[in-house]
Amino acid sequence: MSHHDDFSAESLMMSAGHDPALVRNSIKNPIFQTSTFVFDTAEEGKAFFEKVYGDGNTEEKNNSLIYTRLNHPNLTTVEKRLALLDGADDSAFFESGMAAITTTLLEFCKAGDLILMSFPLYGGSDSFIKKTLPGFDIEHIAFTPEMTKEEILELVNTHPRANRLAYIYVETPANPTNSLIDIEMLSEVADNFSTTEKKVILSVDNTYMGPLWQKPLQHGADLVLYSATKYIGGHSDIIAGACSGKSDLIYRIKGMRSKLGCMASPWTSWLLSRSLETLTLRMEKQASNAATLAKLLEEHPKVDKVYYVGAIQPGEPYHELYQKQYSSGGAMLAFDVVGGEAEAFRFLNALQLACLAVSLGSTETLASHPFTMSASNMSLEDRAAVGITPAMIRISTGIEKLGDLVKDFTQALEKV
Ligand SMILES: *Cc1c(COP(=O)(O)O)cnc(C)c1O
Repeated sequence: MSHHDDFSAESLMMSAGHDPALVRNSIKNPIFQTSTFVFDTAEEGKAFFEKVYGDGNTEEKNNSLIYTRLNHPNLTTVEKRLALLDGADDSAFFESGMAAITTTLLEFCKAGDLILMSFPLYGGSDSFIKKTLPGFDIEHIAFTPEMTKEEILELVNTHPRANRLAYIYVETPANPTNSLIDIEMLSEVADNFSTTEKKVILSVDNTYMGPLWQKPLQHGADLVLYSATKYIGGHSDIIAGACSGKSDLIYRIKGMRSKLGCMASPWTSWLLSRSLETLTLRMEKQASNAATLAKLLEEHPKVDKVYYVGAIQPGEPYHELYQKQYSSGGAMLAFDVVGGEAEAFRFLNALQLACLAVSLGSTETLASHPFTMSASNMSLEDRAAVGITPAMIRISTGIEKLGDLVKDFTQALEKV
């Protein structure tokens, strides 16, 4: 089927990457619960190996079914769909977000290299770069969202490994404070340190905005990474990860994925392709619920401060960047209650509809306390530096009826 140029990615989520004629006209892809695939002839087996390990195109590779760790039909279906949403040549899916992140870093960073990372990062990514990669002789330096391009260039240039900068690892908006980072500016930093022999790779962890509200590849990123556990999976029932980009880069990542053996399984992939059908519906409802909750919090006497990308006003420092890089304020909020940990806990314990849990991007609204939960492994100084206080609560807005969320938040704030 070659109708892909005529319709939007949103409309193709129901059909892309699946050919009913190959599976007895089943409108949906069956789950290919198999470890290996039978070749019609030895010649076909030989040809499939040549295609999978050769320079052939993605379509040919996807049709060369050999062994489920390398490739399987549920995986190629969901990869095709995410690539459409991201405007990418190809995507790769993994059994977790951390598998996507670590596989990608291991493919592009070698002993002696330097990584430039944004700060703060998701705890698992932060710990892999700071604690695991030094054991492979890969060093890092960190920049904060308020630093200018000149300051970042200076930071890299004064490092003894400046000429070994291999990778720029960015997460925007930052968790949980929602600070924004200019992807286009960092692509210029990457160009500045790239040579004809070596291209500096720029990746963006786009988990917080999902494939809908921020398109890092359009702003000069080489790769976009996801915890697909969050918006892409969207139902708090699977762990998964993904990476999208140009086909030569994804080809290399898939090669490393085959070696590490962390591809998404048939069952996980099948659930992901089902989830992508409703991604836009879910995310739009989540964002509209979030906008109203943010307003309620802004105006509430028990709330000190609200962190919400959609609240950035014209004239404020990040407004231009917000307009350039985001098509929505998103569905992630954080706020400081008046008081400290005791007051924050009273709010969390009083919630009746929203669930007290970490994670984000799911159909149900989730509330958590970063200071003692997701950010508790950060030093006190680091938490203070990025504004994670004991009074802070993080909200991932779900798809519940808006009036019920307002009712729940209002009664819980009364208990603060
Ligand atoms: C959850 C998360 C990850 C890790 O993903 P897993 O699916 O839990 O392995 C990475 N980055 C961000 C921003 C996340 O929120």
